[in-house]
Parts: sequence; structure tokens; C-alpha cells
Amino acid sequence: MSIWDASHETMDRERLRALQLERLQATVARLYERVPHYRERLAALGAEPADVRALDDLRRLPFTTKADFRDRYPYGLFASPLADVVEVHSSSGTTGKPVVAGFTRRDLDTWAELVCRVAVMAGVQADDVAQVSFGYGMFTGGFGLHYGLQRAGATVLPMSAGNTARQLQFMQDFGTTVLVATPSYALYLAESIQALGAPDAFRLRLGLFGAEACSEEMRRQIESRIPILATDNYGLTEVMGPGVAGECECRAGMHVAEDHFVVEVVDPTTDQPVPEGEVGELVFTSITRECSPVLRYRTRDLCSVTTERCACGRTLARMGRIVGRTDDMFIISGVNIFPSAVERVLFAIEGIEPHYRIVLGRRGALDTFEVQVEVSEALFNGWMDDLRAFERRVTEELRSALLVRPKVKLVEPGTLERTEGKARRVIDERPR
Ligand code: ADP
Ligand code: ZN
Repeated sequence: MSIWDASHETMDRERLRALQLERLQATVARLYERVPHYRERLAALGAEPADVRALDDLRRLPFTTKADFRDRYPYGLFASPLADVVEVHSSSGTTGKPVVAGFTRRDLDTWAELVCRVAVMAGVQADDVAQVSFGYGMFTGGFGLHYGLQRAGATVLPMSAGNTARQLQFMQDFGTTVLVATPSYALYLAESIQALGAPDAFRLRLGLFGAEACSEEMRRQIESRIPILATDNYGLTEVMGPGVAGECECRAGMHVAEDHFVVEVVDPTTDQPVPEGEVGELVFTSITRECSPVLRYRTRDLCSVTTERCACGRTLARMGRIVGRTDDMFIISGVNIFPSAVERVLFAIEGIEPHYRIVLGRRGALDTFEVQVEVSEALFNGWMDDLRAFERRVTEELRSALLVRPKVKLVEPGTLERTEGKARRVIDERPR
């Protein structure tokens, strides 16, 4: 196992905290001087940069939300003049108006460095051929992985997302060993590879997946179709893009690049820190960005963080899997449900194909909750009675895990829409 930047990735935690404090102080001063939004927010709390004397003082600084980004769209939160900005990205807009972030030359250099770390952590080597099937464009995924993989010395194929037949062709012709994609597109590609029936034509060995949630069950579904080690990595436009955190080969959580980002986990209702290891909302402060530093960004992503040393030797904290985004959660009969909970139940059932969709509607005063899921060819073409019994079983397993009874609709394999980017699991047709 190799470590790209051992001096930072295995840094003594006391020294790491000292470095974080120094960088936090510089960032707060920069924001105060250059970005009216932050100056106003700090002033409203009666705070000044000089008040940040210890790392824990961070807790007294204001949060930043998606709404703050939207209100200052597009350049209002930039801390660098456009003359110094060499690239701009925006979020995929999964949940509304896009968020914008700018990069100076130094920001791009940091980005490449941090994505490179994540790639090397997962096992990428200089002789790898890496196919980037994340979208290139305003989305941070494509370019971020591109820069980072190049720095790691890999041979990069900038495929972008889509055109699956061509993806498979190049994968074989160029001898792709590393696949970069969202887990849902990776699953689609894996199914397509399987359907070709020529496993020896492929040299894939490693998957760098990210940009959306991937349950352990989903990971197994991908790994059971193609012989790869699937790793997870996390990032978001507001904080930088990919490279914020990634799994090492131990696959025991994603190491956060803490020398560049301070991570907090807070209770989303009280805003208070939760005890280490408990699930809460992730909050990130970027401490080395020039153009778009962010103070205490409320990600709305839920997970836990541990600072226990990893078997790989890195001392950087590890985040667990993202349990859900608070904006993904839906409420049925007063019960809060995350799509990931539905997914975990479904994918653990033999005979289910890993494709599903949740449709919410309303009949009269009541919410309706339907789960459409593909089943195996054999089951679908078998006896009607078996199919009905299977449907009852799936319904019962979902009910006992979620405490709400969905209407389960089994559909033929290959019929639900496949995605080349992030999957859209929930279709909410309820009137507002
Ligand atoms: P959008 O909010 O439009 O999707 P981004 O493209 O910036 O914007 O995506 C960032 C979000 O994607 C994160 O806040 C998180 O919800 C999700 N995400 C990114 N990586 C992962 C991952 N490895 N696991 C789960 N969710 C992820
Ligand atoms: Zn590790």
C-alpha cells in the first residue's frame, strides 16, 4: 500500500490540529477582508478574525448553507478577483439552482494533489489506464478525477459519461484497468460487460466510485458482476469537488483530507456537535482555498466520523458511508425514510435485480408509497403464484425495516431507466 503524501497523511494529530488552526486563522482573515457576506455574518455575531485563538473557536463561527451560495450567485462568495480565477465549476444541481465555485491556479494545484491522494489511496499506480466516465463539464467530477489521476501518473481516458457502447469498446481496446463512475453508472456498465459475455476481453481491476451514495449491498452487486475492487470517494462542489475524502485499500471509511478541511459532525436540529462516532450532519470548513473558501458548510449529508488510526497507517479521520442526504429523505405517514434504507433491504433479497424506484403520490388525504423493483429473469418468467408470494415477501421485509407498508411493484429486468450520472431514486408526485 502506498501513501502519496506521507508527511500529511500520517501526521501526528496534535501537529495536524496546530496546522489546521494556523490555516483556519488565515482563511477567516481572508474571508473577512475580501467577502462582504462573511464580514457581515461575523459582525452580526460580534466576531472578528482575531477571536479565533483555538481550533474549538470554530464552533462560534457562523454556518454557511446552500442558500447562501444561491443568494450570492454566481461570484458573490469569491475571495479572489476574476483576474486570478482560471476555472469555474458548478454543482450538478440535483436539488435546485446550481452552486458556483472558482479555482485559482493554486486551487487547481491543490485539487489535483488531493484527488491524486485519494486515487493512490485506493490503489492507483502509474501503469494504470484510467477511464473517467464521470461527466466532464461544469460538474466537478470529471475534471477533478482527470487532474488527480494524471498527477498520480495514470494514463487518463477522458471519456465523460454516456455512450455506453463506446465506453465498452475503449475499455477493451485501451486496456482500461481503473473505472471512474457513479456507482449507478458503474452497475449499468458492469451489466453491459456481463451481457457481452467476454470477461477475458477486459482488464478492469479497480473502481473509483463516488458522487452519490453507495450502500455495501450496491457495492457487492457491482463486484459480483465484474472482478474489481470498488472504492468510495466523497466530495462536493461547495467544499472543492472530489478529493475531500476517499477510501484506502482497507475500505474502513473515507479518509478526510484534514490538512485542507476541518470536519465537524453536528446534530442537524440542535446544531451541537455529536459525540465522536455518532451519526450527524457533516460540516466542512475549507482552510487552504484561495477563491472559494467556505466556513462551516452544512452539507446536509449524514454520517459518522472517527479519528481512530486506520490499519493503513494514516492518521486522517475517516467518515463512514453517507447514510443519506437530509434533502433525499421523505416522510410517509409521519415516518422519515431515506432511499438508502429501502435500498439496503431490497439488495439483500435473492432474486432482486439492483434497480429500483420509489414513487410517492397522494390519494385523497393519504400519501401513497410505491416501490418498483426489477426481479430476475427466472422469477419474472416463472409461475404467477411464485411471483405473488415473492412480492408479499418483499413487502413484508420493507415493512418490518421501515415501519411503513409500501406497495411493491415487481417489474421485468431491464425496464427501469438506467443512469449515466447520479441515480434519481425518488419520484415525488405529491401536490405541494
Ligand atoms: P449536487 O448537490 O447537485 O448533487 P454535487 O455534484 O456537488 O452537487 O454533489 C455533492 C453531493 O453528492 C454531496 O453533498 C453528497 O450528497 C453526494 N455525494 C458525493 N459523494 C458521495 C459519496 N461518496 N457517497 C454519498 N454521497 C455522495
Ligand atoms: Zn486507511
